[in-house]
Order: sequence, then C-alpha cells, then structure tokens
Amino acid sequence: MDKKGFIYVMTNPSMPGLLKVGMTKKVPTHRALDKDLNTAGVPTPFQTQYYAFFDNMIFAEQQAHKKLQQFYHGKEFFKTDVPTAICAIESINIPFTKLYSKPEDDAKIAKIRAAKEAEQRKQEEARRLKKQYDELEKEAQRLKKLSDESLQKQIVEEQQKYEKIEAAIDEQRYKIEKKYEDLIKIKFVEPSFWLCWPLITIIVWVIFIFIVIEKFSGIIPITDTRTFFIIIIPAALFAYFLKNYIKYRQKNSSKCKSLIRQRDDEIESMCNSYMTGKAIINCPDCHKKLRVPINKKLFVHCPECDLKFKIVT
Ligand SMILES: [Zn+2]
Repeated sequence: MDKKGFIYVMTNPSMPGLLKVGMTKKVPTHRALDKDLNTAGVPTPFQTQYYAFFDNMIFAEQQAHKKLQQFYHGKEFFKTDVPTAICAIESINIPFTKLYSKPEDDAKIAKIRAAKEAEQRKQEEARRLKKQYDELEKEAQRLKKLSDESLQKQIVEEQQKYEKIEAAIDEQRYKIEKKYEDLIKIKFVEPSFWLCWPLITIIVWVIFIFIVIEKFSGIIPITDTRTFFIIIIPAALFAYFLKNYIKYRQKNSSKCKSLIRQRDDEIESMCNSYMTGKAIINCPDCHKKLRVPINKKLFVHCPECDLKFKIVT
C-alpha cells in the first residue's frame, strides 16, 4: 500500500478552539470541501490551516497524535491552537515537505521554537551544572576520605608516640625506684629474723640462768634443756615483732621519708621531662637549673657561668 500522503490541520468556525489533525491522500485545499468532512451534522465548512507531504503519512499521523495527546478531545480533534499543532507535527523526526501554512502562524511557530530552544539550552545548562556539581561532590568526597585517612594515620602515629613515651617513662621509673630501693637497703639494714631469734633466745636464757636461778633455785629446773625449748617459742614471736617494729621505725624515720620524697620528686620530674620534651638539669659548676631537650646527646652552654659541658639526656 502506498503510504505517501498529506498531514493537515483544519479548523471549523462551528467548533471554536478545536482542531482536526488528520491524513489524506488527496491534496487538502484551503477550503476543505470533502464530503466525508462536510456532513449534515456540521453547519460550516472546514478550513485548512496547514498541510505537509510525508513519505509515510500513517506513521506521521500516529506520531503527531501522540505528540498532541495532552490536547486530545475526541476522534481526530484536539483542543489547542494551530501553531502548537504544526510544531508537534514538524517535531516528528522524519523528512517532510511543508506545503501550506498562514504567515501569522509561521511567526507564532518561530516564537514557539525560539522559546523551546531557549528552554533546551536552559536544560542543557542545568545538566552541565549538575554534572559539574556531581564531579565537585565526588572530588569533595575523595578529599574527605583522604583527610579521614590522614587523620586516622595521624591518630595512630600519635598513639604510637604516646605508647613509646609511656614505655620509656615506665623504664625510667623502674630504674629510679630500683636505685632508691638499693639506697634504702644500704642505709637501713633490715634486722634478720634468723639472727634475732637465736640471739633473743640466748639472751633470755642467760638472764634466766644468771638472775632467776638464784632466787628460784630448786623450784624451776632452769638449767634443764627443756627450759631452752620453753623460751624458744616466745623468743621467736618476740624476734618477729622486734624485726617488724624496727622495720616500721626505719620506714617512718625522717631520713627514709626524705629519701622517698626525693625518689618521688625524681620520678615526677622525669615524667614531666618526657611529657614536655624538656628535662631540667643542674649546671655542674654554678648549679643553675637549665632546661634541655631530652633524648639527645648535646653540648650545653650555661649562660650563668659560661661553662660548656656534654650531656646525654
Ligand atoms: Zn653554670
């Protein structure tokens, strides 16, 4: 079947606001007088507003009706104006030859097309901006991830550094404590239980023999070895309490307390030096307190006495 033919737009004064968009094989005249159009039910004749030639009019009409769907009124009638209908027909992407339209409609069509193009440009611009925005967003996310990672790394490094400092402090603390422990051991000799016990036993026994023996001679068998064993148990208890008492007195002596204070001060200053990265040392000559960086071998220059000396902190 030959599909070549015309697509037309017609109006009828009896149907204001309505258009007929259809196809025909015959050339639509400016005054459409086809019998099938001008039936008894229509009082006035149809007027052709536009027509164009298409290689496939069936497809063209189908597509044109589809494009005008929002204006559909019934059968082949649409509630819209002529320029809008023409624009719809000519926006189908198939070749055609425009044969007739009114100049005033052409002007309106140009306006509609210009508006459409402007709208398209606006949409394109919006798409371009959206794309740009998406790219920026992506970049921002990438940077955020990078900064998160670097922050995480920084935290881990900080933690490791802190752990190292803690380990160093523990080591130093142990050394200081050991030093003072040894010092206290040397200065305050702890009485040995195994020395006290026999000593007390002998002393008490001797006292018994030399003092009590004279008064109670004959009553208690003092010289009996059994007496020795009677004495030995309270002597052990006494030796135990004596040892602890001496130890207690030593611990509470001002000398020992001052040593412990000295130890605590040394620990505190050591901790401070690790935390601040600086240690306080005394100039060996003028004893001025000098702040020096820790964990370094260096020469220190005393500003007070002009002495230069090497230290390892
Ligand atoms: Zn000095």
